[in-house]
Amino acid sequence: MSFTIHGIGVSGGIAIGHAHLVSHARLEVAHYLVPPYQVSEESARFDSAVRTVRAEFETLHANVPAAAPAEFAAFINLHLMILNDSTLSVVPRTIIENEQCNAEWALKVQMDALLAQFDEIEDGYLRERKTDVIQVVERVMKALSGQPGYVPPPSTDAEQDLILVAHDLSPADVVQFKQHQFASFITDLGGTTSHTAVVARSLNIPSIVALHRARQLIRESELLIIDGTQGVVIVDPDQQVLAEYRLRQHQFDIERQKLKRLKNTRATTLDGITVELHANIELPDDVAEARENGATGIGLFRSEFLFLNRNDLPDEDEQFEAYRRATQEMDGLPVTIRTYDLGADKQTDDAQRITTNPALGLRAIRLCLTEPQRFLIQLRALLRASHYGKINILIPMLMNASETDQTLLLLARAKQSLDEEGIPYDCGILVGGMIEVPAAALALGLFTGKLDFLSIGTNDLIQYTLAIDRTDDTVAHLYDPLHPAILNLLAHILKTAGKAKVPVALCGEMAGDVSLTRLLLALGLRQFSMHSAHLPDVKQRILNSTLKDIQPLARKMLRANDPRKLQALLDRINA
Ligand code: PEP
Ligand code: MG
Repeated sequence: MSFTIHGIGVSGGIAIGHAHLVSHARLEVAHYLVPPYQVSEESARFDSAVRTVRAEFETLHANVPAAAPAEFAAFINLHLMILNDSTLSVVPRTIIENEQCNAEWALKVQMDALLAQFDEIEDGYLRERKTDVIQVVERVMKALSGQPGYVPPPSTDAEQDLILVAHDLSPADVVQFKQHQFASFITDLGGTTSHTAVVARSLNIPSIVALHRARQLIRESELLIIDGTQGVVIVDPDQQVLAEYRLRQHQFDIERQKLKRLKNTRATTLDGITVELHANIELPDDVAEARENGATGIGLFRSEFLFLNRNDLPDEDEQFEAYRRATQEMDGLPVTIRTYDLGADKQTDDAQRITTNPALGLRAIRLCLTEPQRFLIQLRALLRASHYGKINILIPMLMNASETDQTLLLLARAKQSLDEEGIPYDCGILVGGMIEVPAAALALGLFTGKLDFLSIGTNDLIQYTLAIDRTDDTVAHLYDPLHPAILNLLAHILKTAGKAKVPVALCGEMAGDVSLTRLLLALGLRQFSMHSAHLPDVKQRILNSTLKDIQPLARKMLRANDPRKLQALLDRINA
């Protein structure tokens, strides 16, 4: 029976293919019976997974950095205790033996029983420890699968027909899809600017988030149409609908090809204002697509993706190679590399920080400054790579002057160490800061005097200004780049930085939203950075714009409060 499901389209276009349901270790665990002669082998498999996780915890504990907060070691100890308790390390083995089932299932059964007991505890602190039990169990599940998180199957031709259907995927999961050619992916959870959605856009395949129950309603291999532009999934379509969408898909592809012809055209308005259109990338491999789409620089290299999907951390040489490769492939064009923005929804495998509000916690520059030794490794790698092209360093989530001062001090220390070793780097390397916290936007003077450039991260700026968790699909509908507070903050940043003669870019998802291109242009933005797939559309819009016609309308928008009036003015700007 055919039916439709609605969500938030995060990457446009149409895909037609067959559903492939993606499991999540915590939510779905396979249950199968183990033949009697294999039961002891299954128990041994379980014991071995517990041993692996125990060893991981012990290594983590032994390597707690001196500068790490005291709770860090305490958390590892707590997790070790939970793991060593017989309720987790012994009882599942009994379940395997009694029920002759697989280890994952036994572990899940025991976890559910434990969690039910926790629910009955009155003490709030102890009840909260449920999360710790789940995290320890997830680690053992991972060890059982022998894989960190979700790992897609090896790339095959057949996957071009596959639409991945998942309850939830982390940004680390999605970035692995870059080595694949899936037709599309859709998830139940996620918001418009969640990092999962952000990475989805870079894959340049239609994708939809916040579908709520897609994973439950769709069956394996079912035929699906994904309309990423409208955010609609059509399950089991009839022949007529299928034919209609095949036609639309074809038209969409032709339009895309046509736009690619603009690759080498400068992005200049009809009244002669030239704009820089840069690309956002996650990995050096993305540079090829940026160049293909005519990017005149990389405006945001999210370097933290080098740190995900692995058990260790990239050392200085590995990072240096990645930055050098991206820079050399850009052939002299600027490459702005953001220092790692880890924390919140992008956690490394060794991260043990459990906080109630991770987006407000130890994230981005805050995290870097708590672990200066790790941060110095990245700064040295960036400086070394700067010798091979034009690298700019970008600091994420700045909030106060001391963060800037400390970062510049660490950079000076990194330079000094390279000087002592006679290693060359670009002495004139530029350092910029991301403006993504309202406090930074309002007190811009804290940064304009110290930094060479600024880049507005509207994904976070909107999250923090409107108080909407960008990963939470239940508040995703509140995401509103036209909110008067956002428009006025943007205008303020552009004006203040302009007066101080500090260049400003915008690298949040707003930059790639073609319906906002003219508005941003009229507010004074001259450097946009977005996922490569959006570059041709945005360029075409700029080529068709006359700045002096739209500026008065944009000024009116800054004074308007009524959402309908704002939308009407935007429609006139885009007419
Ligand atoms: C932003 O916040 O707008 C941004 C570009 O950074 P990220 O999306 O990686 O947080
Ligand atoms: Mg950000």
